[in-house]
Amino acid sequence: MDPTFDNRYLRALPGAESPGPGSQQLQGVAWARVAPTPVAAPRLLAFSPEVADQLGLTVAEITSAPWIEALAGNRLLPGMEPWADGYGGHQFGHWAGQLGDGRALSLGQLQTPGGGLLQLQLKGAGPTPYSRRADGRAVLRSSIREFLCSEAMHHLGIPTTRALSLVATGDLVLRDMFYDGHAAYEPGAIVCRVAPSFLRFGTFELPASRGEDGLLAQLLDYLISEHFPEIARLPTPNERRIAWFVEICERTARLVAHWMRVGFVHGVMNTDNLSALGLTIDYGPYGWLDHFDPDFTPNTTDAERRRYRFRAQPDVALWNLGCLGGAVSRLLPDAAPLREALDRYTEVFAREHSEHTASKLGLDPSSFQGEPEEIAVELFTLMRRAELDFTLTFRALMALDPRAPDPSIFDVCAYDPNTLRAEQPALVRWLARYAGRARREDPEARLARMRAANPKYILRNYLVQQVIDRAEAGDPSGIEDLLDLARRPYDDQPEREHLAARRPEWARHAPGCSMLSCSS
Ligand code: AMP
Ligand code: MG
Repeated sequence: MDPTFDNRYLRALPGAESPGPGSQQLQGVAWARVAPTPVAAPRLLAFSPEVADQLGLTVAEITSAPWIEALAGNRLLPGMEPWADGYGGHQFGHWAGQLGDGRALSLGQLQTPGGGLLQLQLKGAGPTPYSRRADGRAVLRSSIREFLCSEAMHHLGIPTTRALSLVATGDLVLRDMFYDGHAAYEPGAIVCRVAPSFLRFGTFELPASRGEDGLLAQLLDYLISEHFPEIARLPTPNERRIAWFVEICERTARLVAHWMRVGFVHGVMNTDNLSALGLTIDYGPYGWLDHFDPDFTPNTTDAERRRYRFRAQPDVALWNLGCLGGAVSRLLPDAAPLREALDRYTEVFAREHSEHTASKLGLDPSSFQGEPEEIAVELFTLMRRAELDFTLTFRALMALDPRAPDPSIFDVCAYDPNTLRAEQPALVRWLARYAGRARREDPEARLARMRAANPKYILRNYLVQQVIDRAEAGDPSGIEDLLDLARRPYDDQPEREHLAARRPEWARHAPGCSMLSCSS
């Protein structure tokens, strides 16, 4: 059966119906029509059955030639009306002007069996009017990373854009992976991303920067009426816009608190990479903490200043919300309610982070007041000094018998026996204190909290890199294996114990495992 698309976005907002050739500044429009550029030899490398199911697509459909061609940009199915979105953004703290979908294009808004609309978007399907000087393509390595991490995030219970498919294009793409003058050809690929909307903070910043208040209002009112039905019921536009800003502040706070819970580092938290729905969006040089280093960033472009390091993420999100609030304030007589919403971000983040931290330790979250208590702060300090693995430390604490605390539980978490030894006395003291606290908890409740807050399996950078190496050598089967692993991140998967282990030493400084660039 043909899918049914209802591209309401195109009808609701002004767009460039026939932009000229090449990259250009597009004023006064939200989007521009664009045709995907066909690729040489599409091959479906992986797909997410869960996302297909949500879209009402059977496995037979998604693996059929017409769909594979559509997911490669080689054919349009009935109802698809491809377009690229305009947006701007603050990149690394500086206003960058018009950016836009330079290598992404949306195919349409698909009507789902659940009754909603989900937008399909190809990443890497060729140049658009927003491509600037770049080629509109994506390489296999970054596409595997986006495909897998989108799905892993979802299974971790963290809001995210999803990934339907990963298609190899059969074309080569030229990339200078570390911007060091060593450009090389790499296999190209296209991910089909899926979300209710891909609008970003930067969507609103661009018209605001140009004084296009009419367009700004249209975009914001569309977003609210389509995606925030509760807020859309409020009587006046001002009430709706303020309520939406409060809501996005709260959603972003919850999102970042989740990232901090699982040790995720987004890597490029520019305002064009933060979602107006509060989703994790734009998987580029992201990474996961292995040993606990709050200053870790996987992004080589940011290695010097570390603006987007792990521990900076809550503050950066607030800074980005400030940019968004600045744009939205143009539509309001008084910015005071927006400033209050930013305070709300701080409150909600503090509460969520504290609750997650308590849960990670198996303690009753109501026993933590606002700031994570000293016992948690002390553990983080010890983890950093002893170079303990973030994920494994909390899983190790799950195995602790509070009546007989045994410091050897930390052995499997340590990256360096010497630093572990140096911190051993402090760890023993901390463990005794923690055990005393844990003894006051109901053992079942304690374990249940910890199991829900502490994933056992994360897509460690080196695991994904191994799968990428194999796929580049012609064997993509590892992608499905990792996708399957990521489906049950909190469960013990006895046959996959080795995939929970700490990062091997060879991966500490290996490209792709500890450092990544934006150039993907
Ligand atoms: P990102 O760092 O992936 O968030 O991208 C920042 C901006 O650069 C966005 O406007 C992208 O669409 C654009 N961009 C990144 N890579 C490419 C590419 N290969 N071709 C065209 N535009 C790109
Ligand atoms: Mg981006």
